[in-house]
Amino acid sequence: MSNLFYQSRQPRPFLDRGEGIYLFDQSGKRYIDGSSGAMVSNIGHSNPRVLAAMKAQMDRATFGYRLHFRTEASEDLAARTAALMPAGLDRVFFVSGGSEAVESAIKLARQYAITQGEASRWKVISRFPSYHGCTLGALALTGYDPLARPFDPMMRDMPKIAAPTCYLDRDNLTDDERGLKYAELLRAEIEAQGPETVLAFIMEPVGGASTGALVAPDSYYGRIREICDEYGILLIHDEVMTGAGRTGKFLAAEHWGIAPDIVALSKGFAAGYAPLGAMVARHDIVDAVLDAGGFLHGFTYAGNPLACAAGLAVLDEVERAGLVANAGAMGEVLKARLIGLMERYPFIGDVRGKGLLLAFEMVSDRDSMEPLPKGLNAHSRLVDIAYDMGLIIYSRRTRGGIEGDHFLICPPLIVTEAQVDEIMDLLTAALDAFA
Ligand code: PLP
Repeated sequence: MSNLFYQSRQPRPFLDRGEGIYLFDQSGKRYIDGSSGAMVSNIGHSNPRVLAAMKAQMDRATFGYRLHFRTEASEDLAARTAALMPAGLDRVFFVSGGSEAVESAIKLARQYAITQGEASRWKVISRFPSYHGCTLGALALTGYDPLARPFDPMMRDMPKIAAPTCYLDRDNLTDDERGLKYAELLRAEIEAQGPETVLAFIMEPVGGASTGALVAPDSYYGRIREICDEYGILLIHDEVMTGAGRTGKFLAAEHWGIAPDIVALSKGFAAGYAPLGAMVARHDIVDAVLDAGGFLHGFTYAGNPLACAAGLAVLDEVERAGLVANAGAMGEVLKARLIGLMERYPFIGDVRGKGLLLAFEMVSDRDSMEPLPKGLNAHSRLVDIAYDMGLIIYSRRTRGGIEGDHFLICPPLIVTEAQVDEIMDLLTAALDAFA
């Protein structure tokens, strides 16, 4: 019996050590970290340069409370982060994880509206399905019913629009038309809610675990920005999973040339070396809130120097090794290989994603995209088979309105072409055993 608990009982072996894209349990068995944990370990495990930078910070100080000291690590990381954002997004607020980054974003947005004399604005529209975290504020935005339902009475009911699950559509629209159709759902929802009550719209530019790497048609992104501008609504991009290079750009928003008003970052930002996240906002938003008396929000560990030193060293690695470009290049190779699986396995209905945020979805019929029966537990079965063979992948059973099984294949951004081959060999063996 263990005293420790997580969501459910899930006996897994004890982790011994990590090295690059590999993890080893205490029996010496090797696993390929084919999902970077939960899309976190972007630069791989036990990177000696990051460990040395963290040790150097540890030798100086591991904690200095923000009301008592500034630290070089947090100031430097804020400056480096701001330089990687679209113009104007240059105020950085550090937190310890993704949910905290999202909470911070919506609270900043709300305080900003009040400074603008728009206290009637409080609703944050999000998408269904989506994932924005599991603290109550972030959960109110998360479009994933099983996680949220028991807590409904404890949260304000936030409006949702359908995520652009275009792969399920069977109409004759072009991609462009379909993107605009889904974006216009935002306008309709704003009108239905009353534009004067709507504060912000939050979206994952490429979906994560909730949708299995859902990418909208190109036309979607610009139209969403236009609609937000038209109604004076803040656009928040939740780049907790997509940010820090995973999709082949530092921010996924760069693929479409979009500048959101607020960005949430975490996961790959310190890549698992320390708990770290950031909320990055337009400076005029932050200045308005600070000038009006201050941001009514903050966490004890904000700007923790050890976490920030890890974040800085991770950024150094990302730049030194060209990992954003590698995510783009290896993402193309891996995606082509995953698409190739569709010839061999008729139950793979869709392959999607960008860079190294890739997924495939299992269906019982490719034409109708009918999901596999729930009782088959395909998502956990394939994950367990692959795990036993030494390949870690990430899966969920969910999808817009209907249920389905999708699998995220998201190795660290350091992955090489030979390692992509290794992943594909194990994945094919696992799929053969599953079929
Ligand atoms: N937002 C997105 C898009 C995520 O993928 C996640 C985590 O999976 C979160 C927010 C929440 O992050 P955390 O689990 O670090 O609180």
